[in-house]
Order: sequence, then structure tokens, then C-alpha cells
Amino acid sequence: MKLHSYAAGEWYQAAASGQRLRHAISGAEVAEISSDGLDFAAMLAYARHTGGPALRQYTFHQRALMLKALAQYLMERKDVFYALSAATGATRTDSWIDIEGGISTLFIFSSKGRREMPNANLMLDGPQEQISRNGTFTAQHIYTPITGVAVQINAFNFPCWGMLEKLAPAFLAGVPTIVKPASQTAYLAELMVRHIIESGILPLGALQLVCGNSGDLLDHMTGQDVVSFTGSAATGIKLKQTPAIVQNATRFFMEADSLNCAILGRDVLPDSAEFELYITEVVREMTVKAGQKCTAIRRVIVPAERLDAVATALSARLSAVTIGDPAQDGVRMGALAGLKQRAAVMDQVAKLAAGNEIIFGSQDINQLAVQGADAANGAFMAPLLLACNDPFNTCAHEVEAFGPVSTLIPYTNEDEAIALAALGKGSLVGSVVTADPMVARTLVVGAAPYHGRMLVLDQQGAAESTGHGSPLAHLIHGGPGRAGGSEEMGGIRGVKHYMQRTALQGSPDMLQAITGSWMQGAQRTLASKHPFQKTFDELAVGDALITAKRLITLRDITDFAELSGDKFYAHMDEAAAQRNPFFEGRVAHGYFLVSLAAGLFVWPDEGPVLANYGLDNLRFAAPVYAGDELQVQFTCKQKVKRETENYGEVRWDTTLVNQRGEVVANYDVLTLVAK
Ligand code: NAP
Repeated sequence: MKLHSYAAGEWYQAAASGQRLRHAISGAEVAEISSDGLDFAAMLAYARHTGGPALRQYTFHQRALMLKALAQYLMERKDVFYALSAATGATRTDSWIDIEGGISTLFIFSSKGRREMPNANLMLDGPQEQISRNGTFTAQHIYTPITGVAVQINAFNFPCWGMLEKLAPAFLAGVPTIVKPASQTAYLAELMVRHIIESGILPLGALQLVCGNSGDLLDHMTGQDVVSFTGSAATGIKLKQTPAIVQNATRFFMEADSLNCAILGRDVLPDSAEFELYITEVVREMTVKAGQKCTAIRRVIVPAERLDAVATALSARLSAVTIGDPAQDGVRMGALAGLKQRAAVMDQVAKLAAGNEIIFGSQDINQLAVQGADAANGAFMAPLLLACNDPFNTCAHEVEAFGPVSTLIPYTNEDEAIALAALGKGSLVGSVVTADPMVARTLVVGAAPYHGRMLVLDQQGAAESTGHGSPLAHLIHGGPGRAGGSEEMGGIRGVKHYMQRTALQGSPDMLQAITGSWMQGAQRTLASKHPFQKTFDELAVGDALITAKRLITLRDITDFAELSGDKFYAHMDEAAAQRNPFFEGRVAHGYFLVSLAAGLFVWPDEGPVLANYGLDNLRFAAPVYAGDELQVQFTCKQKVKRETENYGEVRWDTTLVNQRGEVVANYDVLTLVAK
């Protein structure tokens, strides 16, 4: 089978012969790959001129719904991906991470996009900034989608997940993608792209695929493009220096090598629950995906006095791991993705073994017991556990063997453990296993600057822990220094990587017209019809109500105290209230102000307003005393149309002012309003 690329709306097969890709278990040929003859400049032009505009005619919510539809479509067909994934040497669990883990990132970005982004093509960043004395000139940061292309260059270990976790945020932002999977496992990425294209869910030009090398693709990068690279630091650093990328300041995200650590707390005794958790986590990280995970634990940092106990426990567990064809019952670890990958791991093991002792496993592949497959044909290897005697001078802090290989490193106190973790020069993830909160705090505060993610594991969280090695779409994936210095995912943070942040300055009315959000200082429209009588579609941002006034009495304060049970001294005792540094006497309850405000602005009859689902940003700005007279300025601030519901969300700026015109409280009321 010769793999096809998908370029400018057509499937393309190179005429020239290319690299032959082999089954990780049987060694049989699976596919041939070449991108020879592909017109990369034309692909970029197609993405920019067809894909980008097609995507950006939709809102964030509309694109989020497409992602959901795509996720459902792929999930219904997951079996075909599992079948081919077997060729990568993966067990069912390994494939599950890649296939269903990848599809789940589409679901998560779809749901977060609809919950946390506006149903628009522009997004606000933070609150309005007051930059003038009288408020006639103001500022607001905004995000808009960039107009170029997201180019992804992926590693071989997760051909589906690696593609989908980058596609989802780029697509949500409104940016078309060109995927270049690693050659070794590109057959699985190609199969998934075929299904995505066949689904017809994505607009034309939203997704293209390069099977084979990327030719001069990066030579055409501009300042509106993004390159997201996952792979070795050596390749990443080289690609980052592509002249077009440097000259045009193209955004370049790099997820590279990472010598992740797991630190066992000094409080953890053998036979304790946390000790067991630690051993399980390390063994899992060494053997899942045959250790070919960027997040796998490479450095096992343990108290010196526990080194033997940890070595014994790990060795016992590793010796029970059956290696072989994952199609066979009982096989826990499959093969590496290919012979080339195994040779690369063995080269790195040779470097590690020069300064450290191999205490479990053998480099001799001929000694390997393999179940259900011919060891001579597949890319099998044994898990290898090393131990070092000189923790600060071991090459385990430098050498990444991208397979089932970890090194035990002893420490004597927390400062030393932190210093050892830092020798990884920046990692994707670090774990701390301890039952002692103070140990956890010390280790996290010390090691967090060197990590993109940290997992603290104890008994309480163990049953539901997502584990050391699993990046989650909600959380950032990336790390400083050696790990590439970038971030991916992290929920909507990841979408912002594909958007430009702009500081927008102007008059409040102008900024309101541009952003679709009411700005302090902008005109309010005072209509004769109460805003609660208007349907979602009838309402306009800026529609407002200035309510009647209400006099606050001492009786109100005592009645509210009785009704609510809140008899805090500042509401009840004049002398005590006067001793309080913030009050001059008995002060009205803040929650009373919120309640009386509703009494002033609510329209009581049945109508389009369906429910109040909360308040945001509530602040009590000044005390209110008996004798004060309050009034509410109630203004439609934002509308978010729900695509799949017959109502939308309306946010109302709610400002309470007293008889002197001073703001005493300000907040947003959140309502659901029928279309
Ligand atoms: P790699 O050899 O660096 O390749 C990564 C990608 O770069 C592949 O798609 C590769 O394509 C492409 N590539 C290589 N040379 C290129 C060039 N001159 N121009 C354009 N593209 C080029 O890495 P790998 O062996 O696939 O992956 C293993 C490494 O990735 C490990 O070091 C691991 O730590 C790292 N990794 C990191 C993460 C993370 O999230 N941080 C995740 C997974 C893996 P071809 O395959 O066609 O050569």
C-alpha cells in the first residue's frame, strides 16, 4: 500500500518509490511512503485562501459543534483504527490512548469551546481597562484568529492523538491545518484523515495531509502561520532555525525530549500504600507503549535508604511483564514502533550503561522471551532498569532512551531531590509520591519551575488519578527548556496559540460596536419596553433599565437579619459596628443589596427570561446605611446565542448607586433568555 497525501482537496500518490514501513511485530511490509512531487506552496495557498476563509465564516460555537460531530463520527469507526494500530506494536491499551484518547480531545475542546468562548469570531481577553480620567477613551484586549496555516509535524508514537490534540484547538480558533505525521506510523494517521475527509464535516481546505518528507513546506512560512512540532530536540531546533521561520517570526511550538522524573518522598516506607503507588506508576510508565511516551518516567528519584527496596520491587514487577504480540492473551508490552526506533533506543542505552549499572533486563535481544511472535522479526526489547551511584554526574540527566528504560537515582534530602529533578533542564511532567503534605509542598515549589505539569500522588487521589503519563486536554502539555519551552492544549489556552491578541483602544461606543460587548461609558439605550420583556433576538447589547429608587431603613436590616439568620455584629450592634474600621454604624447586608436590586430590576410577569443562573464579579464597593437611597443601572452587556437550544445566555451589568451617585455594588447577572 502506497500512502497518499491529501493536498488541495485531492488525494495524491507519489509516482516515485519511497520508504518502506514495516509491521512492528511481524516485520511484514505495511506501507510505502513518499511525498515526492507534492506542491507544498500550492497546499499552503489552498489552506490560506480556501480553508481559512471557509472556517472563519463560522463562529467558535459552530466550529465546536463540527468538532463534536467529527468526534462522534470517528468514535463510531474506532475499530478500523484499532485494527491498523496493531501494526505499530501497540497493545489495546496503548491504542486506546492514541485513538480514543485523541478523539476525546475533540469532545473536550468542543465542550469547552461552547462553554468558555463566545458564539462569535472575536474573543475578549480580560476586563475592560480604564485608561482615561472621564472614561471617554478606554481599552480592551481581544483575540482574533490568525489568517495563516497551522502546520503540525508529529512524532511517531501517537499518530492519532498527536494529530487530533493539535487539530482541535487550531480548528476551534478558525485556522486550517496541514498535518505531517512521522513516517514510521503515518499509515494510521493517513487512515484517520481518510475518514475525516469522508465524513464531509470539515469545510474544504480545513485539513491537508503530507505523507513523506515535508519538502520546502517550512520555507513558505509567514508571520500568520504556526508550526507545532513534536519530536526530538535535535530535529526541533533545526526546524526552528528555518530562515523563513526566523525572518517572519513564525510562531513555533516545540514539544521535544523530556527526562521526566518521579520522586518518592522520604516519608514513604516500603509496604505502605504510597510505596505501592510509586512502584505501579513507574512500571506502568516503563511498559505502556513500550516506553515510547514523551511523558514516561525516565528518572526514578528515590531516597538513598530506599534504593534497594525500590529496585527489588520494580524488578519483581518488571519480570512479570509478558512481552509479545499484543493480539495474544496476557501480553502486557508490545514492540517498539520499528527496528529503526529500537536501534536508536539501544544506542542511547549503550550511553546510559557506560556510567550506570543495568540492574534489571538484558540488552541482548536474543535472550528475550517473546510470546506469540518471532523475536527476530519484530522490534521487541526488554524493559531495562539502571541504577546510578553518582547522582549528580550521571548521564541519565542528559540521555533520553525513547523506550522501556529508566534509571534509579538516589537522594539524601529534599533540596537534593529538587536539584536532581532540575538537572533534566526542563521536563513535561514530574511526579511526587508522598503522604506528607509538607514534603509535597517543598518538592513541588522547588521543582515546579522545571516542569509543565506536576502530579502529586497519595492514597486519597489514587483511585481516580489519571496518572503520570497522561496529558489531558484540559491541562497544559509542554515544558520549559529541554522539553521545548512551549505549551499545547490547556483547554482554551491552547486555542489562543492560534489567535492574535490585540490591545484595542478607542471610545466606549466604538469598542462596544467592535466587540459586541457593552463597555463602561458606552451609550445605554433606555427603551420604553422593559428588557426582560424582550426575547433573546430582540435584545440589543446596551439595552438598559434605570430603576426606581429604594430607601434603606433600619427595619430592612433587622428584617433581613431575621429572614436570613445572618446576625453579624456589624449589621446588629451600632457600637460594635462603629468600632469596625470600615463602617460608621450598622451596615446593610451585602446580600440584602443583591436581593433588593433584583426587586428593583426584575419584571415579574411570565416572559422570555427563563432563569437566573448566577452572578459574576460581585463586589461591594461602599457601605450602605439606613437612610441611603439606592437605584440600579441594569444594562445588557453580552449575548451568547446557543446554537442547539431555543434560548441564549444574556449577561447584564448591574450597578447599584446611592443618592450621591457613588457605586455601592457592581456585578454581572447571568440569565437564560428564550429566542
Ligand atoms: P524526530 O525524528 O525528531 O521526528 C519528529 C518529526 O519530525 C517527524 O514527523 C519527522 O518526519 C519530522 N522530521 C524529521 N526531520 C525533519 C526535517 N528535516 N524536516 C521536516 N521534518 C522533519 O522524532 P521521532 O523519532 O518521531 O520521535 C521521538 C522523539 O520525539 C523523542 O525524542 C521524544 O521525546 C519526542 N517526543 C516528544 C513529545 C512531546 O510531546 N514532547 C511527544 C512525542 C515524542 P519523518 O518521520 O518523516 O522523518
